[in-house]
Amino acid sequence: MATVFPTAPAVTVPVVGLDAVFPVRRIYCVGRNYAEHAKEMGGTGREAPFFFMKPADAIVLALPGHSARLPYPSLTSNLHHEIELVVAIGKGGKNISAAQASAHIYGYAVGLDMTRRDLQNDMKKQGRPWCIGKGFDHSAPIGPITRAQDVQGIDQAAISLQVNGQDRQRSNTSQLMWNIAETIEQLSMAWELQSGDLIFTGTPEGVSAVVAGDRLLGEISGLQSIDVTII
Ligand code: MN
Repeated sequence: MATVFPTAPAVTVPVVGLDAVFPVRRIYCVGRNYAEHAKEMGGTGREAPFFFMKPADAIVLALPGHSARLPYPSLTSNLHHEIELVVAIGKGGKNISAAQASAHIYGYAVGLDMTRRDLQNDMKKQGRPWCIGKGFDHSAPIGPITRAQDVQGIDQAAISLQVNGQDRQRSNTSQLMWNIAETIEQLSMAWELQSGDLIFTGTPEGVSAVVAGDRLLGEISGLQSIDVTII
């Protein structure tokens, strides 16, 4: 049937070593999933994981060979970087047990959960939704997806973010409070996961502000790194 205006282009992410691309359905994000980051955000100890979402079209592709351009967003003067391991779901399901989780994973990528921290903090104080702080346009830079079978040791992978060549965040995915399998278990209790879903699994400590002109380099051992310039 005819559409009343042109359909928005599908959001897709390249897959390392394939011509086919990964079509994105939803972006789920986990809050406070590294202990040291939970502390810097004012939390204590291991809490049950909690989730928020970003729109799929917030994705900015950060592809090898050049620095992706990320426009500094409106309404903020405190734009924060959060480097995160992204899990790409290949097979959907609900109430997926941790033991079965790996069968649902298509692959992994490096992502940035960009955050308008001042707006997020205002919303927190008022008990209002985080959307404006987290789900804005261009808030989800991501690199190519590496298929799970091509990744070794993702549960013990170095994860880091440099800004203008200086370390800001440096940790290891072994420090996740809720590991990948447990995150899928918990998330799939709340939503039925589908092929094409992405899960940003949370950021380690060291989040801080960036400004126009800053160049961000995000790395996770075994995955393609991402290079992003704020414009
Ligand atoms: Mn985050």
